Amino acid sequence: MPAATNRAFVHDTPGIRVVFGPGRRREAAAEVERLGAHRVVVVAGSHERSVADELTAALGDLLAGTWTEVVMHVPAGVARRAAATARERGADLLIALGGGSAVGTAKAVAKELGAPILAIPTTYAGSEMTPIWGITENQRKVTGTDPRVRPITVIYDPELTVSLPAGLSANSGMNAIAHLVEGLYAPSGSPLSALTAQEGIRALAAALPRLVADPHDMAARSDALYGAWLGGWILGTTTMGVHHKICHTLGGMCDTPHADTHSAVLPYATAYNADAAPEAMRRIVRALEDAGRPASDAAIGLWQLAGDIGATTSLQSVGVPESALGEAARIVADAAPTNPRPVEFMGLRATLRAAYAGERPSAT
Ligand code: NAD
Repeated sequence: MPAATNRAFVHDTPGIRVVFGPGRRREAAAEVERLGAHRVVVVAGSHERSVADELTAALGDLLAGTWTEVVMHVPAGVARRAAATARERGADLLIALGGGSAVGTAKAVAKELGAPILAIPTTYAGSEMTPIWGITENQRKVTGTDPRVRPITVIYDPELTVSLPAGLSANSGMNAIAHLVEGLYAPSGSPLSALTAQEGIRALAAALPRLVADPHDMAARSDALYGAWLGGWILGTTTMGVHHKICHTLGGMCDTPHADTHSAVLPYATAYNADAAPEAMRRIVRALEDAGRPASDAAIGLWQLAGDIGATTSLQSVGVPESALGEAARIVADAAPTNPRPVEFMGLRATLRAAYAGERPSAT
């Protein structure tokens, strides 16, 4: 029997309506009516064009406009123009349709206008569940938290993820697992977030190999999106640690793709924290085991998962120059993110070197 624990936590859950299931994107107009909105602006990138057309047709008179200029990391100019258009159209609701970039663009508009967001995500990034916004100006991404940008309704339709190519699915899935892993040792976690994080890792670790083998496997798509929802909830309700700080830093310095960077760093950030967060490591191993992936330790299990599904396993392969590793370690050490193991330069540099090479993770 496990030893009794002295529990102490704060649990504060935002109210987000989640509508989940294949085909449920077709309920978007009904959800808009439920919210009492009359002037909807749809924000959707070019990959989402056909679904956006289906959506705008269903909205009929409720549609006030569309915005299709979606760029990763939301350049400030795009954010300003999108907000001006939405204001001019008198938007009282924004629908964000797409990956984290489309959701991020809608958030930048919501931040200016105060109009709420209904999100329909098409990747596993998780932004739809968080109050975090990010805008890039002069090659610097500024992020902040504002409860007004957190979507009030999210429609998860796994059919929309079938078109995600295997590589994108694998990396985006590892991005979602990264939220869940860091939620397990977040000081702002609770017993509920620990259970949720473990279940999310299990769902994704079981689903990703299946959907990479067959991108049309709807049950696997559904399980992966379910895990991504849990990942988004964890990202939105707990504090992320050294892993997210490393990825954010490398993304800013080297303009690396978001999901690939997460995939390349996660096993090594996990190894960095292994000794300082034993309970989190036990839960990761248990989740992998329950997904049919027994692992000798958490970091190695995540590394094997990334390798097996063809996700990115080295920083070198996403274009990070070796010469950037020292500076990145310095920036992360100076930022001193909240993390189970104190964040220090030498350990970080060794971690980044291992992630650069993509070698089997071990304690650094
Ligand atoms: P993305 O939205 O840029 O999508 C990646 C590519 O996949 C794009 O070309 C997109 O058009 C395409 N795509 C999306 N869905 C598709 C589908 N179903 N089928 C085919 N192609 C599809 O990438 P992302 O990883 O989803 O999001 C990354 C961005 O989101 C970054 O800017 C990141 O900082 C941000 N983000 C923010 C938060 C937050 O809480 N604020 C959380 C996670 C990510």
